[in-house]
Amino acid sequence: MAKRDYYEVLGVSKSATSEELKKAYRKLAIQFHPDKNPDNPAAEDKFKEAAEAYEILSNAEKRQRYDQFGHQGLGANGGYGGGMNTEDIFSQFGDIFGGGGFESFFGGGRGGRRTKKGTNLRVKLKLNLQEIANGVEKKIKVKRQILADGVTFKSCSSCQGTGQIKKVVNTMLGQMVSASTCPSCGGSGQIVDKKPAEADARGLLLKEEVISINIPGGVADGMQLSMSGKGNETAGGIPGDLLIVIEEIEDEILQRDGNNVVYDLYVSFVDAALGAQIEVPTIEGKVKIKIDPATQSGKMLRLKGKGIKDINGYGKGDQLIHVNVWTPKQLSKEEKQILENLRESENFKPDPSKSEKSFFEKMKEFF
Ligand SMILES: [Zn+2]
Repeated sequence: MAKRDYYEVLGVSKSATSEELKKAYRKLAIQFHPDKNPDNPAAEDKFKEAAEAYEILSNAEKRQRYDQFGHQGLGANGGYGGGMNTEDIFSQFGDIFGGGGFESFFGGGRGGRRTKKGTNLRVKLKLNLQEIANGVEKKIKVKRQILADGVTFKSCSSCQGTGQIKKVVNTMLGQMVSASTCPSCGGSGQIVDKKPAEADARGLLLKEEVISINIPGGVADGMQLSMSGKGNETAGGIPGDLLIVIEEIEDEILQRDGNNVVYDLYVSFVDAALGAQIEVPTIEGKVKIKIDPATQSGKMLRLKGKGIKDINGYGKGDQLIHVNVWTPKQLSKEEKQILENLRESENFKPDPSKSEKSFFEKMKEFF
């Protein structure tokens, strides 16, 4: 579709001053505002078209380019970067409508315009490493406000059911109608008529509920999951959300490092020298691993896929085993004697230069 001329869109002449542009745009923005034209895509298109025209013509440099080259002068697709979204347009309003912006002009916020929403609930959820590694289904007890059975409503008399209190105010742009949320009904336009005795003035009851949630594997401490519509209910609106904040319980044996888990293994000097089969704990229980003969302290072993699920579904981390050779803390007379006999043995003299890499080199090779 061919783009309309920006001056034509705003209904102003080519020599329009910035004040004239502002005035023309303000008129169109009010006329085609989505709040005033619910479910009317044609009005929304006009609203966006006007916003785009104003965005260009109110900028001296862009206006000059447009005057000289038309739509072609403004970008590859002959227009304004693929169009503006509604948020961009709203952010423009501070400039057009003065400090209060469009919201105060029409009342209501810009997010879920006109739709009242209950408050969000936030709960903390403690998870151990096993639960985090593979994901888990949890049942959470929450106390949420729900609309009591048998509540009936009547139109709010303070605002005649509009949800807004309108007031004419004088601004630098002339007289404008300012609207604010009705304090009697909170903007819903309705107030409670009849309600059961146990419900509060808003017709709400506090009720304990058990909610099931599937926690995906790989969540981390402080992460927040959101269950839409499981928060507090509100009369004449939609329920808020339930926000679940993850708290990680630190494992006493396995340490988490991203999607990997790290285990510090201690082996005896004898096992390290001769080799051995050794049991190590993993997230899914104990497994046997092989320690090669002549294993040095500091060696890293990897158990592939024994780590934590990636939260975005990119497989699983590994378990890393950090081998430490244990030096005895006390020795009997006989043990000492045996070791004394080995002290001068050629094979027992450290000689790292021959075959051993430094710890740093090993780490580099490993990752
Ligand atoms: Zn009211």
